[in-house]
Amino acid sequence: MTMHPMLDCDAVMRQLWDYLDGELTPERMKQIGAHLAVCQRCYPQYQFERRFLDVLAAARNDHPALDQLRLRVMAALKDEGLAGVG
Ligand SMILES: [Zn+2]
Repeated sequence: MTMHPMLDCDAVMRQLWDYLDGELTPERMKQIGAHLAVCQRCYPQYQFERRFLDVLAAARNDHPALDQLRLRVMAALKDEGLAGVG
């Protein structure tokens, strides 16, 4: 039984980075936000990734090269399956 029929957890996880970057449509942003608000499985991952991006954003002020590092780390996380399943 699912509490959130609009999106399943795998769909949310796959789009979490784009959600955090604000690169989705307003409608999809709203759908994912609603899912995260009620899903105990996705919300911790959302908090982790948001904090990760916050740290990088703060560091980027002094170290512009970290943009490249961020891309590499994100790719590595996706390889590890942390940014989505399948
Ligand atoms: Zn979920």
